[in-house]
This record gives sequence, C-alpha cells and structure tokens, in this order.
Amino acid sequence: AAAAELPDGGSESVRLDDVGGLEDVVAQFRDVAVSFRHPEVMARWGATRPQGILLYGPPGTGKTMLARALANEIGGELREIRTPEILDKWVGNSEKNIQRIFADARRLRHPTVLLFDEFDSIISYTGAAFDAAGQMINAVAGIFKQEMNTLIEHNPNVIVVATTNFPDRVDASLIRSGRFDLKLSVPPPGPQARADILTKLLRRLISRHEVGGFRLFADDVDVTALAAASTGMTGADFKEALRRAQLDKAMHEARHGTPPSPITQADLLAAIRAVRV
Ligand code: ATP
Repeated sequence: AAAAELPDGGSESVRLDDVGGLEDVVAQFRDVAVSFRHPEVMARWGATRPQGILLYGPPGTGKTMLARALANEIGGELREIRTPEILDKWVGNSEKNIQRIFADARRLRHPTVLLFDEFDSIISYTGAAFDAAGQMINAVAGIFKQEMNTLIEHNPNVIVVATTNFPDRVDASLIRSGRFDLKLSVPPPGPQARADILTKLLRRLISRHEVGGFRLFADDVDVTALAAASTGMTGADFKEALRRAQLDKAMHEARHGTPPSPITQADLLAAIRAVRV
C-alpha cells in the first residue's frame, strides 16, 4: 500500500530509529532484534535470546511503538492482545483464552511480536487471591507462566512483549518467576528526549508530506524551544498536537480553497498549549 493509505499516520512502518529519547531501551531492542535474526549463532553458543520483555511506564511514552518497531526490525508482524479482553469472569475461560492464544502462537511460521497490553490486569484480575503464605494464587497468571516456559522451544519465531502502566502490580508474580528476561522502564521524556521525539515526529511527517515543493512546516520551527515549553508532555501528546496543527491547516484550505502558510512555531506552541489543558 502507498504510505498515505496506511492507518494511523503510517505508524505501521515505524523503526527503532523513529523512537525519540529512550536510548538505553532502544539499544536493548536492537540487541534483541540481532539475536532474533541469528538463531544459529545463539544455538552454537548455547545462548538463549530474551523471550519476554516487560515495558513499564506512564501512558503515551512509546511502549506500543517500541513493540511495533521491534516487529518491523525482525521483518515480522505485531499481534496485539488486549489483556483485559482475554479475562473472563467465568471460571476457566480466561485460562482457555490464554492457552488458545499461545496455541495459535506456536503455529506461526513468520517472525511475530506478541504484544500483551495492560498486562497488569492479568494480576489484578478478580480471580486472584492470596494463600496462607501470602503468595498470590492466580490460575490465570499460572497458565501464562506455563505457556511462556515452553513458547520459545516450540516456536522460535515468536517473542512476547508485555506493557503496563503499573509495574508494581505485575512484579508480585510473573516478573520474579523469570519469564520476562528484560524489564525495561519507559519513563516520561525529559527536555532532551522531548526535543528528540519532536525532531523524529517532524522528520517522518516531512518525509511523507513535503513532496513536490509542498511545505508542511515553516523555517522558524525550533524543537528545542518547543521541548522547553512542554514539560510533562509525552510523545503521544506531541502526536496529538501535531495532528491538530495539521488539521487546522487542512481545514483552512478545504474551507477557503487556498493553501494557508505552513505550520509555524507559533502554531505548534498553540497546539501544544491546547493539548496540555
Ligand atoms: P499506553 O501506555 O497508553 O499504551 P504507550 O506507551 O504504548 O501508551 P504509544 O502508543 O507507543 O504509547 O505512543 C503513541 C504515539 O505517540 C506513538 O505511536 C508515537 O507516534 C508517539 N510517541 C510516543 N512516544 C514516542 C517516542 N518516545 N518517540 C517518538 N514518538 C513517540
């Protein structure tokens, strides 16, 4: 499909290079991709690549984007599973849902990132209880652990990524059991990371839309100043601010028939302020 036909502004095609800030996390993801692409080297050394990655941090910081970028780096596809949707109030159904997901995953013949979002819900699920020793008894989490144990042996094409905004809730059971080899923090961006995120978001928009002499952005756009004016904002907030600025301009042209001037620094500052409230 042409880039313009992709849903969600072409986020389907994102690479690790498009992720702003988060240098350490991106470096780890690059290593995972390398190990994934060289199973024969791993096997020669008796090494096992990570099979599960837990990403934790506040909303909108790029966790889903990282999973999608990893899928693209390994030449594969992303399968998103909304964890709360597999949890069923009927005893046994949640376990069956998880077994079915992993049974499907074992059959996949192409590289796949299996993404479980809102993963904490698996623990805070109402079926969870504590035994006399204070251990969490949770049949659902138990099944998940079992399935994770055998996934890589059965299907080296699959890697699991789980995301959560509440790592403390997940820690209790699944994390200490070692099924997630990598637990990576995806924190809110500081000023430098915000400038980097903005640079990369603008770069993607420019490469997609500034064609045939068309200008999306004016020369006065200054990402450092935008980053300084956006304390507390995330990549998702910037994406939304840009979406609004683009829509404003497009609506202007659609209404009046004449193209307005490109998006300026003042337009972006106004859009950032509008998203903030
Ligand atoms: P949630 O916890 O709510 O699921 P999330 O951490 O998964 O949020 P994403 O869905 O990855 O956040 O972010 C939404 C969009 O915001 C991304 O598709 C991307 O366009 C932009 N974005 C977020 N973080 C970054 C980043 N670090 N670099 C570049 N773009 C980013």
